[in-house]
Amino acid sequence: MKRIAVLGAIVASGIAAVGVTAQGLPGITEIEHVNGNVYKIFGAGGNTTVFVRSHDVVLVDTKLPNSGEAIMAEVRKVTDLPVGVIINTHSHPDHMGSNNQLAELSGDGVEVIAHVNSKARMEAEGGPFGVSPVNKSFSTQISIGEGDDRVDVYHFGAGHTDGDAFVVFPAARTMQAGDIYAWHMSPLIDPGSGGSMLALPTTLTAAYYSIPGVDHVIQGHGGVSTWEEFRSFMQFNRALVATAEQTVQFGGTPEDALVRLEREPSFAVFLDHKIKPGLEYGGTPWARALINLRVAFQELRGEEPQLIMGLEDPHQH
Ligand SMILES: [Zn+2]
Repeated sequence: MKRIAVLGAIVASGIAAVGVTAQGLPGITEIEHVNGNVYKIFGAGGNTTVFVRSHDVVLVDTKLPNSGEAIMAEVRKVTDLPVGVIINTHSHPDHMGSNNQLAELSGDGVEVIAHVNSKARMEAEGGPFGVSPVNKSFSTQISIGEGDDRVDVYHFGAGHTDGDAFVVFPAARTMQAGDIYAWHMSPLIDPGSGGSMLALPTTLTAAYYSIPGVDHVIQGHGGVSTWEEFRSFMQFNRALVATAEQTVQFGGTPEDALVRLEREPSFAVFLDHKIKPGLEYGGTPWARALINLRVAFQELRGEEPQLIMGLEDPHQH
């Protein structure tokens, strides 16, 4: 029951995104070149990354259900090659919702790859979105293809969920990070899918130091960052958890911890009060930081952490 409630909440936020689309805000937008043979398609759920190889196309994430035809229309603007592989960064329906439809459109020869924990959720019977089969799973690392066609997929531990994958295209010096790094703000933590605020800094630090040769980081939702921006995001989340640990043991509150984080000028971008374009349905970076301090406090106190999707920011603009 709990898992379904969580998925429902996430899909509700996704549907809100589609709803605003109908009113003229960004849905699926024009395919954008990132670097080398890597492109990205924004909207209608998470970013879809498109990697054009010598004989086929690799897609990372497939947006909300019923986005398959719109995704393929964008892919066809850059290549006529067939889709051969779909990689999912995690199991949320705004990232794998159109897997089955894309596999059908591509003649069912598509290989689907996901982390073993994501596979278990995607293939679970009785969920609201049906079964989404995964052909190949991995626990820490998997590589597919050779030379310029190679794709490296990594898992370093829990964060947004317990099945988060980092997908790297070495020839293009580009990585798709999934929702562990979305909107260049502290990520949504989904404890019902094994997500953990306390685990997040270790996971991000391992990714930062283990993954070589990346200049461009495609966010799970939103834009493209530099490797340096990804590092600053890792450092902010480390500081958030460290501050929670220091504050909780002296009887302080998440709000006290937030005040301490606000004293560090380099964290301003992660604590600002601006709604991001395309995230009108969500909250501000400041609200997300406070949510994640609350989740960190819950985990530190041994309470069952809660999924907190939204929180009002009194200074939002
Ligand atoms: Zn997600």
